[in-house]
Amino acid sequence: MAFCLSQFNIFAQCRKYNIPLWQCPQFLFAVMGLFIMVSSIVFYAIGERYIADPRMVALVVILVAMTLLVIAFVISHSFENLAEANRMKTEFVNIVSHQLRAPLTNLRWATQFLLSKEFQDSAEIEKSDYFDIIRENGNRMEGLIDDLLTITRLREGKLDSKKTNFALGELIKEVLDEHKPFLEASNIKLDLSLPEKLPKAFASYPLIRIVLENLIGNAINYSRGEKKIDIGLKARKDRIIFTIKDRGIGIPKEDKRYIFEKFFRAKNAVQTEVNGTGLGLFIVKLILDGMNGKIWFTSTEGQGSVFNFSLPTKA
Ligand code: ADP
Repeated sequence: MAFCLSQFNIFAQCRKYNIPLWQCPQFLFAVMGLFIMVSSIVFYAIGERYIADPRMVALVVILVAMTLLVIAFVISHSFENLAEANRMKTEFVNIVSHQLRAPLTNLRWATQFLLSKEFQDSAEIEKSDYFDIIRENGNRMEGLIDDLLTITRLREGKLDSKKTNFALGELIKEVLDEHKPFLEASNIKLDLSLPEKLPKAFASYPLIRIVLENLIGNAINYSRGEKKIDIGLKARKDRIIFTIKDRGIGIPKEDKRYIFEKFFRAKNAVQTEVNGTGLGLFIVKLILDGMNGKIWFTSTEGQGSVFNFSLPTKA
């Protein structure tokens, strides 16, 4: 009974799908039903009293039928959207389970080995290697879950995407401060070039922070060894351009076109000891697309990469 009654609560039904009312099939059906009832009664009343010409009645019927056709079209379109969202979710769940399976298998394999008699009887096997495997795979799963949560929150508009004017240079310094221990440990030299007079960027401060964290993190991760990273800002017309140049592993030519796709990692990156999810640049692009921003890069395998993005300076 409660189930039947809940079917009539259109607003609750639509809220469940997390879509606007005008895209919600239940709401559109209700609008169409109401429209049919009201228009039938109104035209019956008007027709009986004022319309003597049958052609006029036919015209009114045609107009009503056309309006119903438009509403029916919107309803079928909203069903298509729901079906597409469902398909994407299934695809997403498949990819995620696949991505989580590999670190989970490694974890199970390492723990099983640590518990095995072979391991306990042997004095030569290095225990710390297996604990390292467990730690690394745990980190990998944590990184993956963090990135997936960021994507879901971005898509649902749950991250603060309110745009304001802010000094991009200051934000870069803040993110670099966070990465300082990492930079020192990796022996990487940093060259930051910020012109004195720069317009402010117009975007969401916390979201651009995520963009910078990813691009700076990648430049450090894929630099390997004692290298230098250059970071710069410049103004062009009504945009501000960020550039980060590293002298790291670079991106193979054949992999370049997939670099912003979710879960993609170039083969030379997979071969390094750098753990990644292949979601960082996908998140970066998702954010910049929503901020009227643009991202582009150049890269040569074995020599390094240059990533750039631009943001508007005005609303
Ligand atoms: P990941 O978690 O693997 O770093 P990203 O989405 O951030 O995922 O990057 C996708 C892929 O792009 C990386 O796996 C790597 O192959 C390549 N890549 C990104 N930035 C760089 C860079 N600065 N130098 C070399 N390769 C990079």
